[in-house]
Amino acid sequence: MPPAAFMNTPTGLSAKVNSAALAAGLGVLTLTFGVVGLMFWSTSSVDELAGRRQHKLVAKVLAESTVRIAHDQEGVTVWDDAVNEVRRERLDLDWLDQNVGIWMHGYYGHDAAFVLDPANRPIYSMIEGARRTPQDFASMADEMIPLVADLRELQQAADTDLPEGQLTPGVTDILMVNAHPSVVSVKPIVSDTGEIEQPLGKEFVHISVRRLDGSFIEAVRGDYGIEDARFVHTAALRPGETAQPLRSRAGDIIGYIAWRPFQPGQTVFMRLAPVFMSAAALMASILFLLMRRVARRTRELNESNAAVEHLAFHDVLTGLPNRALFEDRLTHALAVLRRTAERPVALLFLDLDRFKMVNDTLGHAAGDELIREFARRLSSTIRASDTAARLGGDEFAIIQTDISSADDIEDLCKRIVKSASEPFLISGSRVHIGVSIGVALAGKDGLDAEELARCADIALYEVKAQGRGHYVLFNPVMDEPIRARQHAEKDLRAALDAGDQLSLVYQPTYSAADGSVAGVEALLRWQHPESGNVPPAVFIPMAEEIGLIEPLGDWVLAQACRDARAWPIPTISINVSPVQLRNPLFARRTMSIIQDAGIDPGRLELEVTETAVMEQAGQCALNLRMLREFGIRVALDDFGTGYSSFSHFNALEVDRVKIDRTFVARIDDQGGGSAIIQAIVKLAHASGFRITAEGVETDDQKTFLERIGCDDLQGFLLDYPMNAGEIGTRFGTGETQSSEALTI
Ligand code: C2E
Ligand code: MG
Ligand code: MG
Repeated sequence: MPPAAFMNTPTGLSAKVNSAALAAGLGVLTLTFGVVGLMFWSTSSVDELAGRRQHKLVAKVLAESTVRIAHDQEGVTVWDDAVNEVRRERLDLDWLDQNVGIWMHGYYGHDAAFVLDPANRPIYSMIEGARRTPQDFASMADEMIPLVADLRELQQAADTDLPEGQLTPGVTDILMVNAHPSVVSVKPIVSDTGEIEQPLGKEFVHISVRRLDGSFIEAVRGDYGIEDARFVHTAALRPGETAQPLRSRAGDIIGYIAWRPFQPGQTVFMRLAPVFMSAAALMASILFLLMRRVARRTRELNESNAAVEHLAFHDVLTGLPNRALFEDRLTHALAVLRRTAERPVALLFLDLDRFKMVNDTLGHAAGDELIREFARRLSSTIRASDTAARLGGDEFAIIQTDISSADDIEDLCKRIVKSASEPFLISGSRVHIGVSIGVALAGKDGLDAEELARCADIALYEVKAQGRGHYVLFNPVMDEPIRARQHAEKDLRAALDAGDQLSLVYQPTYSAADGSVAGVEALLRWQHPESGNVPPAVFIPMAEEIGLIEPLGDWVLAQACRDARAWPIPTISINVSPVQLRNPLFARRTMSIIQDAGIDPGRLELEVTETAVMEQAGQCALNLRMLREFGIRVALDDFGTGYSSFSHFNALEVDRVKIDRTFVARIDDQGGGSAIIQAIVKLAHASGFRITAEGVETDDQKTFLERIGCDDLQGFLLDYPMNAGEIGTRFGTGETQSSEALTI
């Protein structure tokens, strides 16, 4: 599993994006519902208001119609002619038609008219614009006579209030007349001039009937815009209808005027609906597209995060876990082991044998193919609970978990070694490689990932030393030289801090021509408090490796300059490591030390190795060039042990060549040692270098070297290295400089 913090990042991000999109979606939905709700509320409020108004309007129309009928009636009932006409023995029916019957129908739209005599007997009938016999009144008499009786009572009453704008009292009611809801109005027929006297309550009466389901309802429809108004007997309405009850004087409901209420809100809403729906659809589409886009982006983000995550924790070439994931799993496996103390965990470090050869001979592509194929074999060899990782190059590692015995580890190692020994078919060639495995067992060899890796590494080093193609389980014995070295490293640091364990000795070189002293070479000595003298061949490489060579070299230079300042010796040679020379600040620091010591730079010669001078274009060359410009000379030390060939000789930017003592030792050989040295001397001279022969131990060597023209000689035959005091005594001044403690 990748580290938890990393795992959380993409899911956390996508969750944030999703919830933001969800919130936006919910926001838009809420807004839409809010707007729709508000519209519904406002339209229904408007509709309710309009409905109430219509009810009032219908009630008003009804009331006005009732009043108007009575008012219409008075046009004929308050009239002397009418009084006279109705009283005739022989009625003039044509007159009555024209003035109180058919005329009422034609002019005012009254549906029926009757005239009753003082005894309430019908003398004239008109129904629907046609004269009828008075007996036709009989079918309606029951409903109407009570109204007539009421009128006569009213007439007789002294203090009757007249209806507003009317001349005579009247009685109106809403009744069912011949199954039709009708306004019935009863008026007395009286004199308009007052000249005809009649006993009160004994007048002829005129009854007008106006059907509410006939022309009245049409008027309601046409004049008042209640288009679908209709009369219904019961309250069983059609869907969406409303109704106004028609009540008789007694309060009985005799029917209803029903209509579909005008709903301006709904009308507006219906008009707006398509626009609103389109806008909502547009918004929904935009939202949908946005959400889809966000979802796609989130998916892409997750995928790319997953890809990045995979890339961060897997090796690109093989797809196996990389070092980061491997370390995480190892730490995890060890944590589990520490907690449960059950089944141990083994760590296997693998290194392919002869991989470099395949890479060099068949090319990098073939090398990559080989690595991939090996990774495939490795994956199929381990169990699902184990982890195989590629740490880099041809290095692999396995974390083997759930081990029940050492046999489990050995079985796995054997399987891997066998699988790697099978030939690989790479780029059409059969390639034979092998694998070396170093194993460390958690618990036995440590419980710390770093310590376990160190043990597996040592075991791997061991198996390689034993000849590869095999596996080795870590054994503490293997660790001893390493631990000793670690101790030595610690001691060297302590020596540098202490300052009194390190010292310089000087070995003179002599002129071959006249035997005079040509120079001294400063050689560093380490007197270990317990182990005694430690050879520079041991501690110098160690100092180079652990980063102590620079302070050490600076100290040597400063001390040698101080010691040699007063010596009447032409040259002081100082050994310089390539590690020092690779530091861009080396030349400047060296010059400042020399200046501080107050010694002539022309007396100094830096001895460098072949490795340093061969790095022509590198930092070493730059440093050396600067120092030579400053007057310091450069000598190539141990010539012949490195890689420099004679062909590069004249390209070397040095002043002197020191022939390594292994050549000098071969002077006495029969194998042509002398001839080689002779050739080197000739060539070096031809290139303008001075020559020193190192390690002169015999007179024969000395004689030979003198004969072939070597410039200077150095070796135990002439002098052993001596301390500064001895050098001072030997070469004329007894002065010595005290050694300064080294500060790093
Ligand atoms: P080198 O620079 O070639 O030093 C000469 C080495 O040869 C010295 O060994 C010296 O004692 C030894 N020698 C001289 N004459 C003879 C002889 O006739 N026969 C034999 N067998 N050996 C002889 P030493 O002091 O053990 O130094 C070994 C190497 O350590 C030096 O080789 C030099 O590379 C390195 N070294 C010594 N001191 C320093 C130092 O201060 N800085 C650096 N960077 N390296 C140093
Ligand atoms: Mg040397
Ligand atoms: Mg040397």
